[in-house]
This record gives sequence, structure tokens and C-alpha cells, in this order.
Amino acid sequence: MRKILRFFISLFCICKKCPSYPGKKDPVTYCEFGKSGMEIKKKGCICSRCFVWKVNRFSNHYYCETGKDPKSKI
Ligand code: SF4
Ligand code: SF4
Repeated sequence: MRKILRFFISLFCICKKCPSYPGKKDPVTYCEFGKSGMEIKKKGCICSRCFVWKVNRFSNHYYCETGKDPKSKI
């Protein structure tokens, strides 16, 4: 179930267009499923342009580095 949910949210996630995305098919959706296991080189965060961020009224950035948003209900 969690896998399906992650896949669904990943359809909206724009992390792959972000300059800080670590690449190598890292599975994005960090705001809901936790931080990346990869090293993050901060070059800007575009989460505030994302549908998932807006609909959940998130306010943080760099979830790939810090982990899920405190408001995440997943
Ligand atoms: S808010 Fe950021 S981490 Fe969350 S789905 Fe959107 S782009 Fe991805
Ligand atoms: S969480 Fe933010 S900084 Fe990290 S890859 Fe997604 S948009 Fe970029």
C-alpha cells in the first residue's frame, strides 16, 4: 500500500527537475517518505512550486536532506 502511495505522489513530485536532486533514480517524495540516503549538495529547492507542497500547506524546504515535513500525515 505504501509503495502504491509513494508511486502516486511521485507523479506530482518535481524533485527530479530540481538542481539539488542527487540523481541516480533516488526515489523522491522526500516530504512524505523521508530524506534521501544520498549526499545532497544544496543548489536551491523548488518544493514551493509543487502541487503536493501546496495541497498539504507545507512550509519547509530541502526535505531530501532533512526528512519528511512535520505536517505529513503519512
Ligand atoms: S513538496 Fe518537494 S519533496 Fe514533496 S513531492 Fe513536492 S517536490 Fe517532492
Ligand atoms: S526536496 Fe527540495 S531540494 Fe530536495 S530535490 Fe526536492 S525540490 Fe530539490
